[in-house]
Amino acid sequence: MSCPECGELLSVNDHTKQRSWRHLDTCQLQTIVHASIPRVDCATHGVLQVQVPWAEPHARFTMLFERFAIDVLERCNQTKAAEILELSFDEAHHIMERAVTRGLLRRKTTMAAHIGVDEKA
Ligand SMILES: [Zn+2]
Repeated sequence: MSCPECGELLSVNDHTKQRSWRHLDTCQLQTIVHASIPRVDCATHGVLQVQVPWAEPHARFTMLFERFAIDVLERCNQTKAAEILELSFDEAHHIMERAVTRGLLRRKTTMAAHIGVDEKA
């Protein structure tokens, strides 16, 4: 396991209490992923839980569920999307806010270092 801050490879220190994430439905049934996340004890950053491959830190939904939710949110209003996804309005709004934040972060990192100006006058 590696420290989520510096990436140093460390052995497992302990595990968190069991956590749950809503995942994509299976056969029209709501599917929840349950796991206790390993924690590492980094000399620099202290005891931290490792990054899980299925969800972002502090998320209550898997990345696949959020991807699907964003597709629905792009196609209908937030109230209808929440109804289709069986989420509260606030949960749907939170997923949308996180997607916008990720989009803005991506936009900032793809800014051009140099631009060319061609004078037409
Ligand atoms: Zn570290």
